[in-house]
Amino acid sequence: MKIYNTLTRQKEEFKSIKAGQVSMYTCGPTVYWFAHVGMFRSYVFADVLKRVLTYNGYKVKQVINITDVGHLTTDEDFGDDKIEKAALKEGKNVEDIAKFYFDSFHEDFLKVNLIEPFKWVKATLHIKEQIDLIKKLEKKGYTYKTTDGIYFDTSKDIDYGKLSKKNIEGLEGGKRTDMREKKNKTDFALWKFSGDESRLQEWASPWGVGFPGWHLECSAMATKYLGKNFDIHTGGIDLIPIHHENEIAQSECGYGVKNWVRYWMHGAFLTLDGGKMSKSTGKIKTISGLEKDGIDPLAYRYFTFSAHYRKPLTWSEDAIKTAVNSYSRLKSLVLKLEDDLKTNEKYLKSFKEKIDDDLDMPGAVAILWKLIRDKKASGKVGTIKRMDEVFGLKLFETLKIEIPNEILKLAEERKKVRDKKNWERGDEVRDELEKNGWWIRDIGEDFILGKINK
Ligand code: AMP
Ligand code: ZN
Repeated sequence: MKIYNTLTRQKEEFKSIKAGQVSMYTCGPTVYWFAHVGMFRSYVFADVLKRVLTYNGYKVKQVINITDVGHLTTDEDFGDDKIEKAALKEGKNVEDIAKFYFDSFHEDFLKVNLIEPFKWVKATLHIKEQIDLIKKLEKKGYTYKTTDGIYFDTSKDIDYGKLSKKNIEGLEGGKRTDMREKKNKTDFALWKFSGDESRLQEWASPWGVGFPGWHLECSAMATKYLGKNFDIHTGGIDLIPIHHENEIAQSECGYGVKNWVRYWMHGAFLTLDGGKMSKSTGKIKTISGLEKDGIDPLAYRYFTFSAHYRKPLTWSEDAIKTAVNSYSRLKSLVLKLEDDLKTNEKYLKSFKEKIDDDLDMPGAVAILWKLIRDKKASGKVGTIKRMDEVFGLKLFETLKIEIPNEILKLAEERKKVRDKKNWERGDEVRDELEKNGWWIRDIGEDFILGKINK
């Protein structure tokens, strides 16, 4: 299989370090607020990658981190700690904030049918490993101290900038950056001192009481669980120029390795009105929010397959509605197929060609539709079941929720009145269902019911 490596800017044949096994690290969420559908585009991409590797016979060991300290509101290492800010705003302690937002992230993670990683790793539970890495860097002469922390001196790392291919000299030439006591624009904090600030989370260290810089956790935790050389590191494209560049610098200089990660892979953005969908604009949608609007999280998953993961995808009401519609049609067609206990090798071959070509999911979806519409093709059920190991769309699963009798009666009544084209009564029944905590959606002649998540 071929994958695109950001390091070389090329599609490369994938070769794992250990035969039959893949070690993979995915940058996870900073748990200070709800995760939006934009972020989930990155996680669906990582999940599909994992599934395609598994389809190719690899055993995949994935680690995802949870940032619960050190992620500041600016990329220049100044500003507030996002988690602490949320805790103060909500009048809670940081552990409760992190737990609450991780739990809601995780709930959505499962709703989109993402496969659990081998391990979720939390920054605050790996302070020792992070301090150890700074010690290594200090010993090798890569660090310096300022009034507010310990910094990595990027001018000492000849490879610095290799991922984003940035010209360090000309970097951000026109942009004003707040250097304070930094020696170079690209230098970044490894450890920040609490100083006079009253902080909710702080730890003792050889340099003074404080907290780790945001980039450090990924270097320390990925290496602890996956080793000093591992196969794949994923994240969204926004992480390339700073976060990932800094992860590489710390790890390769600290652990004394050349190729800390073999393949760097990045997902493009889900955009909104031309920009990135982000927490700071406040204009976000969550997976659970979609579900409350009657949109199946798996229809959202299907929506993400409408563009290649390296191409931007635009969010709009119309685009998601179209995906809901296609997904519903797809599912109702699949559920009507009769099992002939075979697979169709011709279609499986075309499907594998698509997924092995740097995860061409739009291409793979087109093959699926072609198979469904092919009147002569045999082995449809078996073939689609195999394909769905990669799609993860639960194409053969009907809703398995206990539905109370009175709700079922209402839903049946709605179907009856709609069949008679009495839309008004249909809408009234829908409202009544919603009052009782259930949403209903029509699929062709039929309908599906689901519980509204409170
Ligand atoms: P954050 O919690 O903001 O660090 O984001 C977690 C992950 O989601 C990172 O890999 C980001 O690159 C990614 N991400 C954030 N916003 C978007 C977006 N609008 N589209 C795609 N990926 C995103
Ligand atoms: Zn990271």
